[in-house]
Amino acid sequence: MKTDKTKILDEIKIKSDKIKRTVCLMELCGTHSQAVATNGIKNILPKNIKLLSGPGCPVCVTDQGDIDIMVKLALNNVPLAVYGDILNVPGNTMSLEQARQNNADISVVYSVDEALKIKKINPKLVFFGLGFETTAPMTAWAIKNNLTVYSTHKLFPPAMDALLKNKDIKIDGFINPGHVSAIIGTKVYEKFKVPQVITGFDGADILKAIDMLLEQILKKQTKVENEYQRVVKKNGNAKAQKLINEVFEIKDTTWRGLGIIKNSGLKIKKKYQKYDAEFIYQDIIKKIKKEIKIQPSACQCGLVLQGIIEPRQCKLFNKICTPNNPQGACMVSVEGACNIEYRS
Ligand code: SF4
Repeated sequence: MKTDKTKILDEIKIKSDKIKRTVCLMELCGTHSQAVATNGIKNILPKNIKLLSGPGCPVCVTDQGDIDIMVKLALNNVPLAVYGDILNVPGNTMSLEQARQNNADISVVYSVDEALKIKKINPKLVFFGLGFETTAPMTAWAIKNNLTVYSTHKLFPPAMDALLKNKDIKIDGFINPGHVSAIIGTKVYEKFKVPQVITGFDGADILKAIDMLLEQILKKQTKVENEYQRVVKKNGNAKAQKLINEVFEIKDTTWRGLGIIKNSGLKIKKKYQKYDAEFIYQDIIKKIKKEIKIQPSACQCGLVLQGIIEPRQCKLFNKICTPNNPQGACMVSVEGACNIEYRS
């Protein structure tokens, strides 16, 4: 008897035969990229269906300049709390791990709760806030509970807009991020005139999303479909959105590899500026920004994050660049496209 997965795969084969041309679908969530690899999905798809990883790994899109600022603050005796994934991401001068080896006080935490506990012992503590709409509500809650934060939080839809406007990138459909969509809902994506499906993280969920995208392509439709209704609702999570809006305001921000994207960053509002590390340490940060020397690098993370090249097309992949010797952020995080490809 055929399993659900096999039946969906049969449908995908029928549709891909009808489409004939190469179809490029981009998964926009690092967890989806992991699920694609774990379930061996690229190997079982018809040859003309290409899956690309997008900028969905929060650590990978954190700008080198922000890493430099955090490194310098730590070396200036500001204690930090950071998520473990960011430790080995290279900055222009060094990584946070290297700063730690130079006696900087950097604690690895798994939640803002842990950071709040450390702050009780060490009141100068700064938490490195990063990630998309998924982690921003927790950071907002922690700021309301007196945690000092350096915010590099980012909003996902402006990045999708930037990808669609880039003529060098060919995308026939998006597998929209599942976790982000649980917060922001489905309506926000309707402005993008491209086939989109929001889906879960099982192999069958991803195959179903691919099948639904091919169906839209065949019918020349560009709509947002929600295969993940068990979690994602049309209007998203109102409480989480309220927290974000209460604590943060929107600003332009820099994404590693993608450059400055208008209205894609979250800055702490004036009302909470006594918890805003960017405000508290503004003089040091201004000085650091002037001193930053961008180091030339052969790393092509920027192109990988936009789906312009695949990890193996980078000359350094699995030669100089490995998870033990990462040359770029995409090889550091377990959600990074190069790291996933290395482990596949
Ligand atoms: S393989 Fe390494 S150097 Fe190449 S793009 Fe990926 S992270 Fe950068």
